Amino acid sequence: MKKCVIFIIDGLGDRPNEKRLTPLKEAKTPTMDRMAKEGICGLMNAIDIGIRPGSDTAHLSILGYNPYEVYTGRGPLEAYGVGLDLKEGDVAFRCNFATVDENFVVLDRRAGRIGPEEAKILEKEIDGLEIDGVKVIFKSSNGYRGALVLRGEGLSYKVSDGDPHKVGVKVNEIKPLDDSEEAKKTAEILNKLLKIVYERLNNHPINIERRKKGLPPANIILPRGAGIVPKIEKFSEKYNMRGACICGTGLIKGIAKMIGLDCIEVEGANGTPNTNFMGKAKALVEALKEYDFVLVNVKGADEASHDGNYNLKKEVIEKIDKMLSYVLEHINKDEVYFVLTGDHSTPIEMKDHSADPVPIVIWGKSVRTDDVKEFNEFSCAKGALHWIRGEHVMKILLDLTGRNEKFGA
Ligand SMILES: [Zn+2]
Repeated sequence: MKKCVIFIIDGLGDRPNEKRLTPLKEAKTPTMDRMAKEGICGLMNAIDIGIRPGSDTAHLSILGYNPYEVYTGRGPLEAYGVGLDLKEGDVAFRCNFATVDENFVVLDRRAGRIGPEEAKILEKEIDGLEIDGVKVIFKSSNGYRGALVLRGEGLSYKVSDGDPHKVGVKVNEIKPLDDSEEAKKTAEILNKLLKIVYERLNNHPINIERRKKGLPPANIILPRGAGIVPKIEKFSEKYNMRGACICGTGLIKGIAKMIGLDCIEVEGANGTPNTNFMGKAKALVEALKEYDFVLVNVKGADEASHDGNYNLKKEVIEKIDKMLSYVLEHINKDEVYFVLTGDHSTPIEMKDHSADPVPIVIWGKSVRTDDVKEFNEFSCAKGALHWIRGEHVMKILLDLTGRNEKFGA
């Protein structure tokens, strides 16, 4: 059977500057341009025209999942990303270890960026608690960040954040966001939990040590981004393909784990402009020996965009071009269909995601070609794929790889 790759350059698209250039248009990208020449090009909105997607909802959509059905918030993705095994109906939150005074006024939202070793010890004081018959599951990720899961009957994700998102004010009392009993119960449990966490952590030996060293104690957790774990069809069942994911960011790992893609760890893949580009390229070539489908996300261009750094975005794109050159040299062209695109635009001038569509090329044996010779926002607009939505990508791949069924006689 044929194989497929969806390669996402995060935040790829941009808007023209005063010289009518974008980082992608200006970057030297011989391999991307080769793919544009040999493949079929177009523009894509991951979700739809005028929708500014997050990376998470965009990826879901490109993978053929309706984000309006399966996405309830960042919490579950964070929890999947840290490796928790979630069940349908669990309510999950992103959390920070933070520092509060005796009146619950936040002094440091990241508890002095407490390190992973100390956080792992404090984690045990929270993980496994039970409040009113609801089980508390907590896992720290790298240091001050973590994921909190409530498991039990009658819970809701319609609750406000405990995190006030600033210092010098009290921790928010968590409130139900609708009139349901479930939301009321969930808010009550969380408020009780925060008091228990403070009691257990404030004078914990780790924090006594931290105070001695002049460091802020990690004596509270601040939950935010509540979401409920949806019923979701696993990728392997939906498409009858064994799938893997290569990415450096927790958020995308969370998406991958939620839909059952195997995450391949690459040393030095950290979701920044200094990621291990070639390590990821090599991992992709290896993964294609074993898997039918591989999702790759390279985050650096988006990071550069959020910082408004035009040149860095251009450099990241050029490094990704070298990755692609390696990959094309080492895969069997007759066997692999390759989609190269972005999840959304992150224009330098906005320093945030926009709804501008992104260029897309589909490359592989017998793909119809067009006259597009360069991979960028402007030339791809003239491609034969025209404009598609993210939801079309997997459908096209299923067709090209001979996996879809005929409709009718
Ligand atoms: Zn993104």
